[in-house]
Amino acid sequence: MGVIYYNGEFHDDAVSLDYNDRGYQFGDGVYEVVRVYEGRLFTAREHFERLVRSAGEIKMSAPKSVDDYIQICEQLVDRNDLVNGNIYIQLTRGVAARNHAFPVPATEPVTLMYTYTAERPLKGMQNGVKTISTEDIRWLRCDIKSLNLLANVLNKEKAVQAGAVEAIQIRDGVVTEGASSNVYRVKDGAIYTHPADNLILNGITRRVIKECSQELAIPFHEETFGHDDLLTSDEVFISSTTLEITPVNQIDDQVIGEPGPIVKKLQQAFETKIKMIK
Ligand code: PLP
Repeated sequence: MGVIYYNGEFHDDAVSLDYNDRGYQFGDGVYEVVRVYEGRLFTAREHFERLVRSAGEIKMSAPKSVDDYIQICEQLVDRNDLVNGNIYIQLTRGVAARNHAFPVPATEPVTLMYTYTAERPLKGMQNGVKTISTEDIRWLRCDIKSLNLLANVLNKEKAVQAGAVEAIQIRDGVVTEGASSNVYRVKDGAIYTHPADNLILNGITRRVIKECSQELAIPFHEETFGHDDLLTSDEVFISSTTLEITPVNQIDDQVIGEPGPIVKKLQQAFETKIKMIK
């Protein structure tokens, strides 16, 4: 497993978690996944700013500053000799006898951070992936990167059972996002994606894509669109820290086709940003 950061200390290989940890019993906590390319952190500041925000939205305060978290990540990368992979970061409300309401007095948040090797998903990025569409059965605060992922887990499993990579979620006929990604359609040279409101997670990759679109002068519209619109798109793609920018070539039985010109341009621009990491 390698070196793990747990509550202020680095541990070799293993840590013991308390069965009364509220993350374990209630999913009462928040998390992030930061990508590492060639030993360097990608968009770590944005991830930790989002972590601090997510914590605040569930009335927890992150025990460390964004700069501290970045420094811990750098140490974890060094200590684990991580080249290409991810860092998982989790904050829970802490350890207390099981009771739904917040513990009184407040508990110290429990922090866990570890790294793992992961190659880039190049095959899907080049060829596109199959997806399914399914009902979005999540709560109404999808903007919080919460540990409560049961609805996402069930939808992702539905996709896997159908031989697909992602489940595109639909709420009241509107495409929200994937079980673990943001969703985009391209029509007549413009990109459309759900607004960053309470119904989706404002992906860090989504923000990079927005920036790339602006640099490439590709119109980027944060507007809702329907399930029907999705199926008549010129291109469809999904994005996340681990999937990067992945074209969608099939939704249920509907074939969308080969990766198109817009997604390829975005992938190139994204690649340039990876190469620019300091
Ligand atoms: N939406 C959901 C529900 C996710 O779980 C994720 C990532 O895990 C994303 C979107 C993409 O976010 P990011 O680009 O920050 O990884």
